[in-house]
Amino acid sequence: LVSRKQKKEDTVITLGPVTVGGTKPIMVAGPCSVESYEQLRTVAASLKQAGVHVMRGGAFKPRTSPYDFQGLGIEGLRMLKEVASEFGLKTISEIVDPAHIELAGQYIDVIQIGARNMQNFELLKAAGEVRTPILLKRGLAATIDEFLHAAEYILSRGNSQVMLIERGIRTYEKATRNTLDISAVPILKQESHLPVLVDVTHSTGRKDIFAPCAKAALAAGADGIMVEVHPDPPTALSDAAQQLTIEEFNRFYTEVNKNGIVF
Ligand code: PEP
Ligand code: MN
Repeated sequence: LVSRKQKKEDTVITLGPVTVGGTKPIMVAGPCSVESYEQLRTVAASLKQAGVHVMRGGAFKPRTSPYDFQGLGIEGLRMLKEVASEFGLKTISEIVDPAHIELAGQYIDVIQIGARNMQNFELLKAAGEVRTPILLKRGLAATIDEFLHAAEYILSRGNSQVMLIERGIRTYEKATRNTLDISAVPILKQESHLPVLVDVTHSTGRKDIFAPCAKAALAAGADGIMVEVHPDPPTALSDAAQQLTIEEFNRFYTEVNKNGIVF
C-alpha cells in the first residue's frame, strides 16, 4: 500500500491551513520536551510570528537512561492542546504506548512514532486503527525497506495518513550525532507516495549545520523539515545541546525559507 506502484499520486495530508506532501514543504518546530506553559507559550508565539503552523513537543520521552526526564505524559499533551489552541497551531507529539493511541487523537493533530519504536509492531497496528495522521520516524538502524514495511503496518490497518521522517542512522561517524541519510529522501519519494520529512536536530545533533542540511533536504525533495527550538536551551530537560534559541530559529528559518519556499 505504501508503494508508488500501487498509487501514483502523492499522498497529501491536511493540517489546518497547510498541507504535507502538497505544493510546498512545511516547517515543524518546537521543543524537544513539553516542560511548562511558559516554555510552550514562548515558543508558540515565536512560531506564530515567523509564520510556522505546526508545533512539536514531546510528552512521552523515550530516554536512554531511566534516570533522565521522562516527560509530563498526558498532562503534557493537555498543555500542548491548550497552548496550540491559544495560538492557532497544529501539534505533533510522540506516543509510545498502544493504549494511548486512541486517546491521543483528542489532544494532538499528529501522532509521532519515534525512532526507537519504528518496529514496535503493536504500536504500529494501533496507529493503523485510528484516523489521526501519523509521523513515523526511521529507526536508529533501519534500512529503507524496513522503514517502508513499518509504514505498511499502519496503512494495512486502514490509516493512510502517514508521513515518513528521516532522522539519521547509526554509522561509525562521530562528527555528527547520527548520520543524516540524505539519499533516503529521493529514494523514499520514488518508492512511495507518502510525504517525506527530514529531522535536522536528531540526525545531525549540530546546530552549526542545521541550515545547510535543511536546504539539502529540500533540494533532495523533502516535504518538510523538523527542528527543535527552546526558549532557554541550556536549561532544557532534554536535548539541551541541540535545541535552537528563538533567535537562532528565526535566523535558521529565514535562511531555509529564502523566497518563501516553506510553509
Ligand atoms: C523526538 O523527535 O522527540 C525524538 C525522540 O526523536 P527520535 O525518535 O528520532 O530519536
Ligand atoms: Mn529531542
